[in-house]
Amino acid sequence: MNQLPLFPVTVVGSLPRPPSLIEAMGRARQGQLAPAELETHVQAAVEAAIRLQEECGVDVVSDGEQARPDFYSFIAERVDGVKLLSLQDLAGHVEDRPFFERFLADLEVPLSSVRLPVVVAPLRRRDSLAVSELRRAQRLTDRPIKVALPGPYMLTRSAWVQALSSRPYQDQEDLGRDVVALLRQELEDLGEAGCAFVQFDEPMLADVAFAEPEARGNMLRAVLSRQLDPDSELAFAVDLINRVVDGFEDMRTGLHVCRGHCAPQDKIRLRGSYHRLLPYFCGMKIRQFVLEYASEHEDHLEALARLPAGREIGLGVLNPRTAEMEPVETVVSKTRKLARTIGPERVFLNPDCGFEAFANRPVNTTTGAAAKLRVLALAAARLRRSFADS
Ligand SMILES: [Zn+2]
Repeated sequence: MNQLPLFPVTVVGSLPRPPSLIEAMGRARQGQLAPAELETHVQAAVEAAIRLQEECGVDVVSDGEQARPDFYSFIAERVDGVKLLSLQDLAGHVEDRPFFERFLADLEVPLSSVRLPVVVAPLRRRDSLAVSELRRAQRLTDRPIKVALPGPYMLTRSAWVQALSSRPYQDQEDLGRDVVALLRQELEDLGEAGCAFVQFDEPMLADVAFAEPEARGNMLRAVLSRQLDPDSELAFAVDLINRVVDGFEDMRTGLHVCRGHCAPQDKIRLRGSYHRLLPYFCGMKIRQFVLEYASEHEDHLEALARLPAGREIGLGVLNPRTAEMEPVETVVSKTRKLARTIGPERVFLNPDCGFEAFANRPVNTTTGAAAKLRVLALAAARLRRSFADS
């Protein structure tokens, strides 16, 4: 792959989709738009997303996840055995219905607008999850490309609804084996196709680590409706992730954990520093941890020195949800602190999360996202100068 500069600037995944594309995807779902016509809309949107990143100085670009309705549910289109069910459909199958209904009330979105992938039959990869997206993006840019995939823990845990998933699979261990095989095949295919960076999204780890049993915003508990022991859950997640990446040490793999993916409103965002997760991160054979630090105090960064040598940090230094611009100076000072702690060659710069994390609700405008990315590039340029001199 291309040689990256120090402090490579990248994105976590998604960029806002143009309203015309959202509308076209809605019509395609209802059978009112031919796949070829939808592809024309997607192509245009991906090209615009890539140009925007290039113009803003992003070194490792994504396709803006323009073809995905959200970061996760697209797998139902590529994998047999996974079915998209609306939260309304799911209500009939969850064990703790009153909790589930309180959770839905907190979400404040129309129930029909959120659909979750649920395992209802044995998993079979009908099509690669992301190779066609990668190839489409490669035709549009020479820059290295990052592809995000749902992580194995999220796929195993949140796609499991006891009443439906226990028919094809004995238990979640059993499902985990097929999920690991699915993602290993995908890693191999993406590697062969020249993908520079594969990131696994595991927002559920934050749920497990930080949410109180009755906490709001806990999608996992809402669906599973039973108490989970955080330590055994996190150990299970480490095991699944390591089984996926075993043998792929030469690839740049990443793990993104954030605390707001499932909750569009700030009031139900999870809180908590990453300290709770660090011992588990240390056991993961993942190259890079892509984490949210925009709202965290600089001092919290020191804990990251505990990660084994060779592990990188994708430092989230901008809140993708806000209109206010973080000052370049703040980004520089936070990043410099981390670079001095773990070494500049181990630090990437990115926003805290994607710019369109939830259903059809971009968390920022395209102009807002571009302005934020420019702040990252300006900060990276300053940091490169200052570390080249020192
Ligand atoms: Zn995120």
